[in-house]
Amino acid sequence: MVMPLRYIQGPGAIQLLGPQAAVIGKNAFVIGESVALSIAGPRVRESLESAGLAIRAWDDSVRECTYPKISELVKAGTESGIDLVVGVGGGKAIDTAKAVASDLRVPACTVGTQCATNADASGESVIYSENHEYIESKKLISNPALVIEDTDILSAAPIKFLVQGMGDALACRFEAQAYAKSREGKEDGAVPLTAALALAENCYETLMRSGIKAVDDLKAGVRSSEVEDIIEAVKFTSSIAFENSSCAMAHAVHNGLTTIKGVRGSHGEIVAYGTIVQCVYEGRPGEEVRKIVDWCRKLGLPTSLNMLGKLPRDSIVAAANKACEDPDMRSMPGNVEPEDLMRAIDAVESGI
Ligand SMILES: [Zn+2]
Repeated sequence: MVMPLRYIQGPGAIQLLGPQAAVIGKNAFVIGESVALSIAGPRVRESLESAGLAIRAWDDSVRECTYPKISELVKAGTESGIDLVVGVGGGKAIDTAKAVASDLRVPACTVGTQCATNADASGESVIYSENHEYIESKKLISNPALVIEDTDILSAAPIKFLVQGMGDALACRFEAQAYAKSREGKEDGAVPLTAALALAENCYETLMRSGIKAVDDLKAGVRSSEVEDIIEAVKFTSSIAFENSSCAMAHAVHNGLTTIKGVRGSHGEIVAYGTIVQCVYEGRPGEEVRKIVDWCRKLGLPTSLNMLGKLPRDSIVAAANKACEDPDMRSMPGNVEPEDLMRAIDAVESGI
């Protein structure tokens, strides 16, 4: 079971960054996106410096998590004599900072500034090209030593990011269960711990119970326990659940769809659609599938392909073929054939 050493969430949690980081390092390298650091940067600086840490390097120019950017920052970190990396921002900045820390063999701290990503707690970085083409998920030497989720900062970010994060988190229960089933009786490697499956279940229950209320509350400017619970489900629970099990069909469908032209939608939106497809493919009871579709509909997450763009039939078939070749698809029990996947997609399109 892999996870961060410490996960701290709550209003004003950023004040604990310095005191907690001081236990693991003295010379910090702060890495982030320009917008994230313009918002949270002064609080990051204040918290670190007032706890006695020196900020030896500061880079607010991350736009994409690429190997050239990581190399550039590793060089800057080596020259500055840092012993701790603090990543601030969304997925790209966090993944870049974690990869830099891993290459420098120093601990990483992460500070989330929006909820579209569950990268903050995980021990891998998703690497892209300059043109945002997916290259690989790079396993790092460890998860971050410290994760700070200040819900004052996260609640002030556009609500669409939280909805996207919930769309991504929706997949983890179904993918973890599929993976567990695919590993049943296998003696050639990992099976997920029951703890990972319990977290995935907890994540799903929290999303269903509190997701819509959390969004309504945020729209009304109300900071409720549901908002805190949903941030935890996205930022912690889904992250640990997926990392200790596997992605499966929902993400394979995402990966297939993003290879074809004309697909709109964020990662979380497309994964939410992929989750519905996986549920139908698995032949889950209609009541269970309808509950998920209704939930997605209320949140504005896509429940059919036309919400992701006007896609010709041959493109959809090409996406299904790609999805079946995707490594994530190997976490499904049995072989998934493109025709069977297309049948599930067609069933989703004809309405549930
Ligand atoms: Zn995802």
